[in-house]
Amino acid sequence: MTWMNRRAIKRTMTRTTNRLATRTDFSAQDREKRQGGGGLNRYSGNYRAINHDVGRALHHYGMIDHEDRILVGVSGGKDSMALLWMLNERLFRIPVDYTLHPVYVDPGFEDGFAGALASWCGDTGYDLHVEQTDFGVFAHTDANRENPCFLCSRMRRRRMFEIAKARGCNKIALGHHKDDIIETLFINMCHAGTMGTMMPAQPMFDGLFTIIRPLAFVDEERIADFAREMEFPEFVNPCPSNDNTRRKEIKTFLRSLYGGNKKIKDNIFRSMSHVNMEYMLK
Ligand code: SF4
Repeated sequence: MTWMNRRAIKRTMTRTTNRLATRTDFSAQDREKRQGGGGLNRYSGNYRAINHDVGRALHHYGMIDHEDRILVGVSGGKDSMALLWMLNERLFRIPVDYTLHPVYVDPGFEDGFAGALASWCGDTGYDLHVEQTDFGVFAHTDANRENPCFLCSRMRRRRMFEIAKARGCNKIALGHHKDDIIETLFINMCHAGTMGTMMPAQPMFDGLFTIIRPLAFVDEERIADFAREMEFPEFVNPCPSNDNTRRKEIKTFLRSLYGGNKKIKDNIFRSMSHVNMEYMLK
């Protein structure tokens, strides 16, 4: 056996061990489902479009490298479930190997859905790490003078970084999509007087982690259709601020701006990478 062969065999064994270490045990019967077989119509327009856009984003921003340990932020929404599902399904098809570590930071409201979400993750092949907090509840007390969502999401984000560090993850994947990125641009313009948005790949803390957003090129509507097609469970966020965010106002405004013309949305999205600095104010 040559040195090269020995190295290749060792690498294959390491890959297999890594995969099994982070997944719950699965039977051969379930294997097809977890490889994207069960319930998935590979000719479905939604699957193909999302898969294509995810592949483009991963490639364009060099989001995932061999042996990455990726914490996947799972919120119970369709976007993060689609993200975990797509990254898992992709793992079986591509030569780049990585491990996925789904985490849910529970904001602490009664009637939460952590158990049901963990069960869905289990069906997808993963143990969900549920981090119990009271961040959402605290953000709605008199002790908080900021916008509840602002404080709650900042605290949850910080806790996610701590978990990533504790679990040795070098990437944090979040389920933000194209609509989120456009909405954030408008929220910042309208409410902060700045122009900026979420980056598809964003190094943090001098490169300790990189936040990646593999759904950055995917339309929200496409994800919603895919989630319905795949019969992802729907969870209702019991938080009192759930229906009352600035994001919802901006979303409504943008929907009327698009007026059903997808070109407008695509042009706004494209404009964020074609900024003519010479024609901006100084
Ligand atoms: S909607 Fe509620 S749980 Fe979500 S970020 Fe805002 S305060 Fe937190």
